[in-house]
Amino acid sequence: MSCSETEIGKIPNFAHLVRFGDSIVIHRIKQQFRPLRIRLQYGGSNRQCPICDNGSKHFLEFGIVPRADARCAFCGALERHRLLWLFLQRKASFNSEHPQRFLHIAPEAILEKRFRPLIGKGYVTADLFAPDVDLKMDITDIQFPDNSFDFILCSHVLEHVPDDRRAMREFRRVLAPNGFALLLVPITAEETIEDRSIEDPEERLRLFGQDDHVRRYGPDYTSRLEEEGFTVEEVCKEDFLSAEEIEKMGITSAAGELHVCKK
Ligand SMILES: [Zn+2]
Repeated sequence: MSCSETEIGKIPNFAHLVRFGDSIVIHRIKQQFRPLRIRLQYGGSNRQCPICDNGSKHFLEFGIVPRADARCAFCGALERHRLLWLFLQRKASFNSEHPQRFLHIAPEAILEKRFRPLIGKGYVTADLFAPDVDLKMDITDIQFPDNSFDFILCSHVLEHVPDDRRAMREFRRVLAPNGFALLLVPITAEETIEDRSIEDPEERLRLFGQDDHVRRYGPDYTSRLEEEGFTVEEVCKEDFLSAEEIEKMGITSAAGELHVCKK
């Protein structure tokens, strides 16, 4: 190898380091100014996110089949997150003087950020796969004694679980007699359809709307919960929000209904 080849050989490495350094600096600058950029681009007063309290011109498009006015540009909250946050704020008494025991399955980061300081020591997050949770947990085999929790929140998980009825029975078992569980699922069929023999992701996507879903739920979801022992109250957004709040906070039909489950 000649001297010139050696020198030339070093140049690309050096240039790579410069580019790498530049990219980190630019990335940090972008991160630092991201809130300002989002505020300039989306800030406004047509919409108000109740979770992060930011006002915006509109919510962003979101979904496998994209829907408009769905996702908060600031915190990422979707329609169902805003609905259940508002419900819990108005219907549940989070109070540090009376600590509540709250089990949050597959916690949404934006909600966890708000719940943890509100609830304190009684707040427990759990997931079978995600690493950043308090406990690894299989919801069909919950490692807590009976009556352990005042609130249970499990949103858009049961449609991934082959034996969802067993998970419902486990939630009921660990729920305290005066507590309630919010077990949200997407209701996308006229009647629940499932077939445990289907494991092909493409076939699941075609039949169940997502390649890791094992069923589509219909309105009979309520009776499914009741069959596993829950008393269920179906709560609509209109039951506790004004028309102005629904419009302003973007609680569209995509938010769905809340199934408030008691034992
Ligand atoms: Zn937000």
